[in-house]
Amino acid sequence: MTGSIDLSASVWPDVPSRPLVLVPVGSTEQHGPHLPFDTDTRIATAVAAGVADRLAAPIDSSVVLAPAIAYGASGEHQGFPGTASIGHTALHLTIVELVRSLSTWAGRILLINGHGGNVASISDAVAQMRDEQHDVSWIPCTAEHMTDSHAGLDETSVMLFLAPHVVQMHLAEVGNVRPLVELLPSLTTVGVRPVSPNGVLGNPLLASAARGAILFGALVDSAVIRARCPGQG
Ligand SMILES: [Zn+2]
Repeated sequence: MTGSIDLSASVWPDVPSRPLVLVPVGSTEQHGPHLPFDTDTRIATAVAAGVADRLAAPIDSSVVLAPAIAYGASGEHQGFPGTASIGHTALHLTIVELVRSLSTWAGRILLINGHGGNVASISDAVAQMRDEQHDVSWIPCTAEHMTDSHAGLDETSVMLFLAPHVVQMHLAEVGNVRPLVELLPSLTTVGVRPVSPNGVLGNPLLASAARGAILFGALVDSAVIRARCPGQG
């Protein structure tokens, strides 16, 4: 049997034999004055759903879309109320135990990460799980031509495409527009708030659903290519 199922809405006899299991990994962190806390989780989940649809074609195996891990390592955003971070140690352990559990029935496990702050935890946990002989890998939600990093033009555009009803464009403001590579040392030492008081890294003011549609298509294309390439992550 081939096809794609949403695990949240399924019953156990629906689960195919040894499927590819996709697990979105997001965050619950501030995304400026205009985007919701679940922005990373929404994007990772939407990309995973797009990948599931594409990989569920007859040439590929069965695909299961698992519920997202909605909390991540967001310590750099802790200066803003509402940010809910479980940190690296807890995220690492969450992934380890989840992979051990999923492996009892999954064929392959692919984590789809929507938050840059999760990368260290995910890559360490995946390496550990591979040492335990689990068939697991991870991929980021990235594509070429993305220009800014947090609640800016790209992320806001993708959200305007995916979920315009939760984007408050009338509250959008320009944030710190210096390149992320220049900001990273400060972000990792003092956090986002002293670097960008409104929580935005980039400029969301010219964001559009049309741009978001193109970007989202590129995110799914990139993820599908990586998902089909064994040994990623
Ligand atoms: Zn984000």
